[in-house]
Amino acid sequence: MIEIDGSRGEGGGQILRSALALSVLTGRPFRIEQIRARRKKPGLMRQHLTAVRAAARVSHAALSDVTVGSTVLSFAPQGVVAGHYEFAIGTAGSTSLVLQTVLWPLLAAAGESVLVLTGGTHNPMCPPVTFMEHALLPLLATMGADVTLSLERYGFFPAGGGRLVARIRGSTAWRPLELLTRRGDVSVRGGAQVAELSEKIAHREVRVLKDKLGLARDAVTVETVKSIGPGNIVQAFVQSEGLCEVFTACGERGLRAEQVAKRVVGQVRQYLASDAPVGPYLADQLLIPLALAGGGTFRCTEATPHLHSNAEVVEMFLPVRVQIDEGAGAAQVTVRGVS
Ligand code: ATP
Repeated sequence: MIEIDGSRGEGGGQILRSALALSVLTGRPFRIEQIRARRKKPGLMRQHLTAVRAAARVSHAALSDVTVGSTVLSFAPQGVVAGHYEFAIGTAGSTSLVLQTVLWPLLAAAGESVLVLTGGTHNPMCPPVTFMEHALLPLLATMGADVTLSLERYGFFPAGGGRLVARIRGSTAWRPLELLTRRGDVSVRGGAQVAELSEKIAHREVRVLKDKLGLARDAVTVETVKSIGPGNIVQAFVQSEGLCEVFTACGERGLRAEQVAKRVVGQVRQYLASDAPVGPYLADQLLIPLALAGGGTFRCTEATPHLHSNAEVVEMFLPVRVQIDEGAGAAQVTVRGVS
């Protein structure tokens, strides 16, 4: 039984999600205590509970009694089974984080899976579905993974109600990834979306993107999308050869549209100031696939606490070592198999 202290390092939900994914994949049981101990409201929130139940469902796991607020759990999976699964978070909790939990094992399962996830699709501090679609999945495709997403309805905090359908082909033959330099021409596109709010907000936001990032008029889009409650996101897509990085900010009540857009501008400038191809979010999310491929290397703009914590969890379950070399303005991450 692998014992995990959830308060180590970053001390958030990612330690739990990675442990669940890797436990299902390897068949190795684990017990975790102090779940999300470093968060304001520690323990399982609804999004994490849905991820736990989803992991248990796809692997017929034996799971200790858990509820919202639980800070300890034990989990003993049987084999992962491909199939059609529906997971409803019941709040605006992030559908992409639930997807991340079961994605890796379902990519290994024999057969195709279809997941229908309802909840939030564009949440602050979480990978927006558009990030998964444009940044993460194309890289996974080059590594041999076949996943398609269909965003059927947007879900924003607090109403939720978004609907995401994922199709995952199993039996993935992983190929290693090497991503050391940003290659080719770099182009930036931007977009702002609103639901149940005036489109003027989105127009003000893209004006800031155009002015501050020097984007042409046809490099930005404005869209009103369907959702059961109000919401607003601003995104920038930085395309280089073989890689699209996506930076996002979510509108908040009381925060001016211009300020929302400036948050995106800040992230894009920080990314472009470094020559590393991988941004801070993609970095921690690439560790599991690299480990599954048995190795790989990339340079990222910074080594975040999420990256370090995820590396620790990956090393607990898989026979790999993750080396993180931090330099000025970039870090290099190398995953190597060990026997
Ligand atoms: P908590 O921190 O409350 O436990 P959590 O369960 O949402 O929350 P974290 O441990 O903080 O989880 O992990 C958040 C994940 O979301 C990380 O993988 C991080 O890279 C990713 N993420 C956060 N913000 C973005 C963003 N703007 N774009 C892409 N990915 C993001």
